[in-house]
Amino acid sequence: MSNIAIMDLKSFCRELPKIELHAHLGGSLSRSTMLELKRLYADAGIADQTNAFFDEFQIAAGDSRNLSQCFQVFSIAHSLTSTPDALALATTLTLAEFQEDGCCYIELRTTPRETPDMSKRQYIETIVQAIRKASLNLTIISKLIISIDRRCSPMAAEETSDMAIEFYKSYPDIVVGIELSGDPTAGSFDDFVPALSNARKAGLKVTLHCGEICNPKEVMQMLDFKPERIGHGTFIHPRLGGTVETWDALSKLKVPVEICLTSNTDDKGVFATSLSQEYLICAQTFELSQSRLARLALESCQFVFDENSRKPLTDKILNFIEIKQL
Ligand SMILES: [Zn+2]
Repeated sequence: MSNIAIMDLKSFCRELPKIELHAHLGGSLSRSTMLELKRLYADAGIADQTNAFFDEFQIAAGDSRNLSQCFQVFSIAHSLTSTPDALALATTLTLAEFQEDGCCYIELRTTPRETPDMSKRQYIETIVQAIRKASLNLTIISKLIISIDRRCSPMAAEETSDMAIEFYKSYPDIVVGIELSGDPTAGSFDDFVPALSNARKAGLKVTLHCGEICNPKEVMQMLDFKPERIGHGTFIHPRLGGTVETWDALSKLKVPVEICLTSNTDDKGVFATSLSQEYLICAQTFELSQSRLARLALESCQFVFDENSRKPLTDKILNFIEIKQL
């Protein structure tokens, strides 16, 4: 492909209205957002312990990181979002960046964290309010998925689930789902079923990080739970550490899989990528036309958790297809 054709495809991928369904807040903080957060800490006189290892973890697009390095990036992001002001700023800047990249809808996900400056409840409240406020100035439709960390106890998982239900009842226009994530080697799926089932009964949609490591037994348990979507699904195909059974189950159930072609882990900040960059990689790898790419974006509309957004998003992308005569 010529340079001009690549530039053309690149700008098309940015312009295409896209749906972002797998974005962890902590993993989505860009370098510029992190610098803004460091400035906020400096102005507020808050000790910033990230200096020592901040530069060490910068990454260029396409570079790879191992899982432990990813968790180190998450830890920098966590320490820079430990006050309500910093968390709100991180949310606002991140949503604006997704919009800048041409996303028209996002489901941001995050694990409620208790810090010396806020409780888990205040953590969620801060993000919900930041999303509401940002929505006044942004065109991107932003929703929240609350995460259960696999390292937590079944009891802590139920507490998170109860909190998610409570916020879903208060802010059904913002909180749309619950998910299971974190260290894939920690915990057992069984332990989280009661918490996830409660949330589902209350009306929240469920997505599960599934098959991030080779564990066919757990993949089967997760698929049996019939989540609305799964994340990554790396080790499901028999050639990639899964089994015939796991692949057949996924194919039969047709559970949508949230993937990232660059790494098939998380996220835009951690891997210095963006959704438009992922569309570009997809187009180049599978030799897809602009028309086919636009239809991929269109198909994702039916899997967004907020049912009220499905039609307006579909209309928006169809309109784009019509204008571009694709
Ligand atoms: Zn993830």
